[in-house]
Amino acid sequence: MSRFQVKKVAVLGAGVMGAQIAAHLVNLKIPVVLFDLPAKEGPKNGIVIKAVEGLKKLKPAPLGVPEDASLIQQANYEEHMDVLRECDLIIEAIAERMDWKTDLYHKIAPFIGEGAIVASNTSGLSITKLSEALPESIKPRFCGIHFFNPPRYMTLVELINTPTTEPKVLDDLEAFVTSGLGKGVIRAHDTPNFIANRVGIAGMLATIKEAENFGLTYDVVDDLTGKKLGRASSGTFRTADVVGLDTMAHVIKTLQDNLGPVGSGKVEDPFSDIYGTPAVLTKLLESKSLGQKTGAGFYKKVGRDILRLDPESMEYVAGGAKANEVVGRMLKKPAGERLKLLREAEGAEPRFLWAILRDQFHYAAVHLASIADTARDIDFAMRWGFGAKQGPFELWQEAGWLQVANWIKEDIDAGRALSKAPLPDWVFKGSVVAAGGVHTAEGSWSASANKFIARRELPVYERQFFPENVLGSNAPAFQTAGTTLHEDDAIRLWTLDGEQGDVVIASIKTKMHAISPDVVEGLAMGVDLAEKSYKGLVIWSNDEMFSAGADLQAMLPAFMMAGVSAVEGAEAEMQNVMLKLRYASVPVVSAVRGLALGGGCEMAVYSAKRVAAMESYIGLVEVGVGLVPGAGGLTYIARRAAENAAASTNKDILPFLTEGFTAAAMAKVGTSAIESRKIGYLLDSDVIVPNKDELLYVALNEARALFNSGYRAPHKRPFPVAGRSGLATIKGQLVNMRDGGFISAHDFHIASLIASVVCGGDVDAGSLVTEEYLMTLERKAFCSLLEHPKSQERIMGMMSTGKPVRN
Ligand code: NAD
Repeated sequence: MSRFQVKKVAVLGAGVMGAQIAAHLVNLKIPVVLFDLPAKEGPKNGIVIKAVEGLKKLKPAPLGVPEDASLIQQANYEEHMDVLRECDLIIEAIAERMDWKTDLYHKIAPFIGEGAIVASNTSGLSITKLSEALPESIKPRFCGIHFFNPPRYMTLVELINTPTTEPKVLDDLEAFVTSGLGKGVIRAHDTPNFIANRVGIAGMLATIKEAENFGLTYDVVDDLTGKKLGRASSGTFRTADVVGLDTMAHVIKTLQDNLGPVGSGKVEDPFSDIYGTPAVLTKLLESKSLGQKTGAGFYKKVGRDILRLDPESMEYVAGGAKANEVVGRMLKKPAGERLKLLREAEGAEPRFLWAILRDQFHYAAVHLASIADTARDIDFAMRWGFGAKQGPFELWQEAGWLQVANWIKEDIDAGRALSKAPLPDWVFKGSVVAAGGVHTAEGSWSASANKFIARRELPVYERQFFPENVLGSNAPAFQTAGTTLHEDDAIRLWTLDGEQGDVVIASIKTKMHAISPDVVEGLAMGVDLAEKSYKGLVIWSNDEMFSAGADLQAMLPAFMMAGVSAVEGAEAEMQNVMLKLRYASVPVVSAVRGLALGGGCEMAVYSAKRVAAMESYIGLVEVGVGLVPGAGGLTYIARRAAENAAASTNKDILPFLTEGFTAAAMAKVGTSAIESRKIGYLLDSDVIVPNKDELLYVALNEARALFNSGYRAPHKRPFPVAGRSGLATIKGQLVNMRDGGFISAHDFHIASLIASVVCGGDVDAGSLVTEEYLMTLERKAFCSLLEHPKSQERIMGMMSTGKPVRN
């Protein structure tokens, strides 16, 4: 089997993108060398050194843990060109200038390894033109690789070929970027700004224009074009501020330089009139107001207030205005009714919304043939690159294809649209109309090939059982796929069909996957079923969260009626199920993604193994609601400390307890799978999965592999605890914190209870205890707090406002 192996990557350019791409590679255990120009003064690696330092402070964090910055190898073009030969992939991310990039290509060409892929992260320069600077032998291995900022968090990567790129090179790269880097890949044509920035920036320019037409202020526009419209919550203008107005101007300039009306000598684009730099943007750029990075742009933060720019006076005035509530209600209606209401309403706000949606539909339809292979690529580009819930074609199709098409046509004919260009013929006749839109089970519409085209079938996609899909594709939903073994409102126990059907999957269905008594019962049933006839149990669902923890809301009625004894029973059931997961005779694997808090974290740590998406946020957060972990979390911390001490020459348990105790006492949540591992909620033997869509595949394989290797549950063995002397030491520190005013009296009380449980209570240091014994302590501590008025205040506060109460 021949396989494209990436043993080392070189990133050229340690700027905003290059440094962050290097960080993302390090996160995913890919060795990386980061190059920049030699510094004129000081150490030759000066530019890279500074960039790598910067990574530790940048928000949102590009690195899983800041100390991993040291894993980025530092280099400059004067001293280290030989290192390039070791790299299988070279990603160029230097400043956006054709001449600088091609100069650099000339310089590096002699050092590029045989078979290495070279790719540019340019935002919009022609990949074909760039390739011309490379020797013939390298051209087939050159392409565009367009990441979005911030590269750790944005899903989209556009790959762009040239006429000379070898198809296998792009397939190899797609596999690596998908599975190794966890990205969503689309292939874009080599047209200015490719797909996402072309459609996205045209959309922003259209929004600026329509906002002017309808006389709306930036804050109202952002309120309308954020979450309410199913787009990134920062809306339009705040997104521009975050991206940087200089970067945005750059992308706009690429449109202006390359696209024009008929006869302009540029690539023809009937929308070129809208590519003019908006006057307000020009003025902001002149005054060096570049958005967030300079502290002012369309908005300016002054103290706690966010002021908005008044484009007339160019002064900052009070902001924060919201859209009309009526419009908010319109936006909650089903798609067809929603668009009709917006279009026919009287006010400026709804008509503005219809206008920007119409502009986007119009733009996407007119450009589909030239910029993308299929409509699916445009929709994915807007989802993955701009944070939209739905792409333009999906919404159009959902709202009723022909109806919306006729509305757009009416506006074009009446001169209300931004361009006179008619909608292409395929919109009104033939296969698309017959299918009711561009996305079908067969594939998505390709305007250039005049047919529906299915997704690319690369082997890497066999690892995705339920990949993200566009509306209308009729892809199987995980909620109904496979064979159901048991299902109620709380949980579904099921298997995939065919070869993969040898492991039971438990998919929790409750809101935020809260662990209610019914979920507990379902998990126990899952273990029983798996032990009887399957190779293991995987806890997984295709949602953005693993579990937000025990369902306090479900416990509350019992507590009100029967007092704490009722809750203690439920708590004991939860503890029992955790032990059942741990001691099942077949392996239980938790497939974690997103939040795994409280009981969610406990479910994970009591599994035989965890596979976690890079973006997993794991922690015991009960302190936030005035409680302590009660379903085995503290018992786990005590056991891990004993295990770690046993594996070391230092048999004193206390030092091994500190990390776990502190994490629970401070409700610390790992901000990545890597940090969660550092805290101790994931083990070194657990698997971090870059691509969330591969989580189920990996989890099933792990469960199966464990079983096939003769899995036995761990021994149930007593372990030593730190005892009363350990407790005294921790308490001494807590007293200082309380007396120093760092924690409240109630925080002190809760932290002391946690300390008491993890130290094993009032026993000698080194005493052997069982998990059951510690769980009893844990449960008692939990229940005593449930009755404490200050904890009740915290619980009620969290339930009513969603915010922690400090008392
Ligand atoms: P940047 O200005 O932050 O960094 C550019 C780096 O290039 C600097 O470290 C600089 O030292 C180096 N450089 C400048 N001139 C050079 C030369 N002649 N030879 C070698 N190196 C040189 O830029 P950035 O925002 O990181 O953008 C880098 C590339 O990524 C550009 O092609 C840009 O279009 C693209 N891009 C940027 C974003 C974004 O949001 N910033 C997003 C996607 C793609």
